[in-house]
Amino acid sequence: MGIVVANWKMNGSVFLAERFVHRLNEIDSVSRVVVCPPAALLGKFEKFKHFIGAQNCFYEESGAFTGESSPKLLKELGCDYVLLGHSERRALFHESDEMIYKKWSAAVGQSLRPVICIGERLEERGDWKDVICHQLKNYIGHCDLDDTIFAYEPIWSIGTGVIPSESELGAVVSFIKEKMPGSELLYGGSVNGRNAGEIMRINGIDGVLVGGASLQIDEFENIVGMVAQQSY
Ligand code: PEP
Repeated sequence: MGIVVANWKMNGSVFLAERFVHRLNEIDSVSRVVVCPPAALLGKFEKFKHFIGAQNCFYEESGAFTGESSPKLLKELGCDYVLLGHSERRALFHESDEMIYKKWSAAVGQSLRPVICIGERLEERGDWKDVICHQLKNYIGHCDLDDTIFAYEPIWSIGTGVIPSESELGAVVSFIKEKMPGSELLYGGSVNGRNAGEIMRINGIDGVLVGGASLQIDEFENIVGMVAQQSY
């Protein structure tokens, strides 16, 4: 079964959330659909028949951490998934691999399925193996990875309309799969209704993580359809 994860980032509205719930509840998809709206909109997905996820969590259960959300609360709100280590969080909020690992551990402790985002910056493109190895170092050989999903998101592809070639992506995917043999792997970066099919045909890719295109309901439905087609 293919996976389609929508990352709304800090976008959307109450109106959009209600429209999404209504429209996507009409779909019986053979793909696993996960929508990650901003935390403030999670409550609007109460009647959603697919999955919801958070875009981040903190690693403590409660306490004086103004502005943060604990995995426990996210679970209570109905989340089954949580994005961790998105490149925007790494760059803008200075999240380190160590912090992401602590968040991973706390999320797994609450039975949330973490989607750990990894990927190189444009200037690191020639060194992608080193970058990815570094980002994966805490998880390689770990015994508790059954529910963990990795998302390869080359940063130079996010929001740019540029995606890796089939052979480039194929090489990265087999490298990650070799390091993380039992984990599902998503591709993220400028996915849309036109390229989702070809991306899904790459051996080893289990699904897609969609940013910008996930805010347009028709486009998102197209992606869900393309992923479902390739999952047979
Ligand atoms: C993202 O930021 O996770 C992402 C995949 O964005 P976009 O699809 O807009 O490139």
